[in-house]
Amino acid sequence: MRYFDINLDLSEDDIALRDAARQFAEQEMRPVARQLDQMSAEEGVAEDSPLWPFLKKAYSLGYHKILLPEYYGGLGLSPLQTNIVFEELAWGSFGLALTVTVVCFPFYCICMTNNDEMIEKFVKPFCDCTDGSIRGCWAITEPEHGSDMLAVGEECFDSPNMKGNVRAKLEGEQWVLNGQKSAWVSGGTISTHAMLHVQIDPSKGFAGNGVCILPLDLQGVSKGKPLEKIGQRDLNQGEIYFDDVRIPKDYMFVDPDFYVPLLDIILAAANLCMASWSVGLSRAAFDEALNYTKERVQGGKPLIEHYTTKQRIFDMFARVETARAIARAAINLNLNISPPHVEYSLVAKTQCTEMAFKNTHDAIQILGGNGLTKEYLTEKLFRDARSTLIEDGNNETLSRHGGHILMESYPRAPLDF
Ligand SMILES: Cc1cc2nc3c(=O)[nH]c(=O)nc-3n(C[C@H](O)[C@H](O)[C@H](O)COP(=O)(O)OP(=O)(O)OC[C@H]3O[C@@H](n4cnc5c(N)ncnc54)[C@H](O)[C@@H]3O)c2cc1C
Repeated sequence: MRYFDINLDLSEDDIALRDAARQFAEQEMRPVARQLDQMSAEEGVAEDSPLWPFLKKAYSLGYHKILLPEYYGGLGLSPLQTNIVFEELAWGSFGLALTVTVVCFPFYCICMTNNDEMIEKFVKPFCDCTDGSIRGCWAITEPEHGSDMLAVGEECFDSPNMKGNVRAKLEGEQWVLNGQKSAWVSGGTISTHAMLHVQIDPSKGFAGNGVCILPLDLQGVSKGKPLEKIGQRDLNQGEIYFDDVRIPKDYMFVDPDFYVPLLDIILAAANLCMASWSVGLSRAAFDEALNYTKERVQGGKPLIEHYTTKQRIFDMFARVETARAIARAAINLNLNISPPHVEYSLVAKTQCTEMAFKNTHDAIQILGGNGLTKEYLTEKLFRDARSTLIEDGNNETLSRHGGHILMESYPRAPLDF
């Protein structure tokens, strides 16, 4: 039996999109992800890497433009469809689902500016791209700054002591960029364009930041080595360096006045993606565990017939469904309103990643020793899930940010009846 969907109101289009993404995840993503996981990070992006034909296929099917509006050439999916497709892709591979989505981030954010010239120049060519040759990345994290770059509302955020590692100075009609982003930039060593967070007015700390689009073939840009890490090894990451890089004035599409609201919009969107992908990852772990319990015989009967295994399998199922419910509710809310209610994206990200981590942990426990070996997918799923607790803001920082929003924006509950 295929995994059931609790929403009985899925349209024929929703189901067709889901089935197509499921097939792509199973037939294309799973085999490539397993190969990339076992290669070195450098081999993973070498000319003969399976990453390139995979990206070409993904772009030809339009999976790189899931988040982009139809009006500009994107897929124009509804929030529910976006969630459904993301869940399926991440069932195939969390790292590859992220790879094929982060490529759109600079272009997705430029759409919000309604700047026709920039849309014509950057967004439309990206949407028209079918061979994977235009790839964006989101470059915010710095060698000296991680969580604090997302800590809007905390004392450190707008302190002049917060010295950014990438600075931008206006010289006439051009911005001049200098500095370095950290090795955590997803797609960092293979991207053609970056959505780059820079410090413009250091006297305001990070509240003095801006965001620009940066074509990465400009003079003065260089890249580090692909990062080696334990999980999501099928996701390329690496540093980007800037040495007197010059860009036209209008490439800085967000200035300090709009930086804080934009950061929340980006964080809300990124966390919705993380939530949907985490459900796919949770479900992958559940599938592995359930299949195994039906095959493996212990004490004279299949594992599934043992009481504690039944209970553990049900707990895993409950986590998939609970995570899916909050991921869908949050995406339905925040992709339909502007500005988003960031706290719901934060709930979805923190809870769905925690549940994915628990499910991959339980899947290994159910498989016993086999769960730890490379013969089975569970050990990869576990390593991938561990990264999600840190990625796109570690869960502690995100929870603190959510707490700050509740403190600032929610009225005190009435105590009188
Ligand atoms: C798989 C993956 C993909 C990523 N993709 C991108 C990307 O595309 N682009 C990009 O720019 N970045 C990316 N990142 C970076 C990511 O957003 C950062 O790793 C994250 O924000 C945390 O920063 P850090 O690693 O520097 O940890 P730090 O900020 O150094 O924090 C380390 C730990 O200290 C604790 N801590 C931190 N601050 C506080 C505090 N104020 N109070 C109490 N405890 C605290 C937390 O437990 C935290 O986990 C990615 C990371 C991963 C793992």
